[in-house]
Amino acid sequence: MNIHPQIEKVLERKAGQILSLAKRIHANPEIGFEERKACRWQVELLKKWNFRVQCPFVGVSTAYKAIRGKSKPVFCFMAEYDALPKIGHACGHNLICSAAIGAGVALAEVLQKEKITGSVVVMGTPAEESKGGKVIMVKRGALRGIDAVIMAHPGAKTSPDAGSNAICRYDVTFKGKAAHAAGDPPEGYSALDAVILFFQGINAWRQFLPESSRVHGIILEGGVMPNIIPEQASCRFYLRSPDDAYLVKMSNRFKQIAAGAAMMTGTKFKISPALEAYKARLPNKYLNEAYLEAARQLGMNPVIPEHPERGSSDFGDVSQKVPGAHVYFDIAGKKRDLPAHSIAFREAAGSEYGLQQMLRAANAMAQVGYRYFTDADFQRKVHEEFKRQMGKR
Ligand SMILES: [Zn+2]
Ligand SMILES: [Zn+2]
Repeated sequence: MNIHPQIEKVLERKAGQILSLAKRIHANPEIGFEERKACRWQVELLKKWNFRVQCPFVGVSTAYKAIRGKSKPVFCFMAEYDALPKIGHACGHNLICSAAIGAGVALAEVLQKEKITGSVVVMGTPAEESKGGKVIMVKRGALRGIDAVIMAHPGAKTSPDAGSNAICRYDVTFKGKAAHAAGDPPEGYSALDAVILFFQGINAWRQFLPESSRVHGIILEGGVMPNIIPEQASCRFYLRSPDDAYLVKMSNRFKQIAAGAAMMTGTKFKISPALEAYKARLPNKYLNEAYLEAARQLGMNPVIPEHPERGSSDFGDVSQKVPGAHVYFDIAGKKRDLPAHSIAFREAAGSEYGLQQMLRAANAMAQVGYRYFTDADFQRKVHEEFKRQMGKR
């Protein structure tokens, strides 16, 4: 695969506006579904660059779909722009949307100039952090007509998409009976004891889970006073697995353990889903390889991750609908350690190095898109691989 120099030329011409967008969003963090300014600034820029924009999109007020071109195939760059509460852009989503817009305009200009058939979409997907913006959008048909998707997330390293876990989140509430803890304990049933035994049951289960599974919880509510036997106690758990079907099995076992804890303590329990569930992320091998190759040629020193991510992202639902890859670009530079959701990460997402890396990621993604439109064999492989992955499930 050869790097197309015209893509870089467009990016050089637009760099000033792309960088200023990234900096402005970084300086004005907005949390999920409240990204009004970030959304408006992106839409303004895309319209200026001759994209036709729908915003709100699929009924989500801070989502958008921007398109250039009329015909098939349709290649999509996905944007995120939500910040974290209190800490701001500590996941660097200001760079995700800027890279997507940069890639989108660079590819669209080159396709137009070379009279290549097809359309470029930039899709704005709000509320990635815990709220599952993409899950909601996918359910409402946001990906209708889209043939393939790529997005790039900042991180400690440049790397292809290694996949990530599906996730279910549950709140479990136990109900017992209050009584004076010293004066009249035989009258009481402790909901807190149920929660404690529930945690112990989960810990006993751990030995039998595959290495790739994750179960982790916190106590939300544990009683009011030591001299009142807790009538109500509750906890929240996240369950994860790279296999969507296995996660269903885990959820069933989780419910049985809750029932056991309730039985042992004479309490009742209720399980309710908390937040959106995400599907496992299935990276497309060929989109991944094309990104890796472009990143290598652009001097981004990509590395192959040792194992799939054990975390989760709402791109999982996208990757099971159309061929997709959620790749990474390094914003750490010489700093070896850059934990996500930290102040150091937020600083890196606004640093000169981080901004320049975002432009390189935009370039690499646009190169992948260009290959998708111009290399029929590559395009066929992308879709065959997707069919194979989905057939296996
Ligand atoms: Zn994050
Ligand atoms: Zn993120």
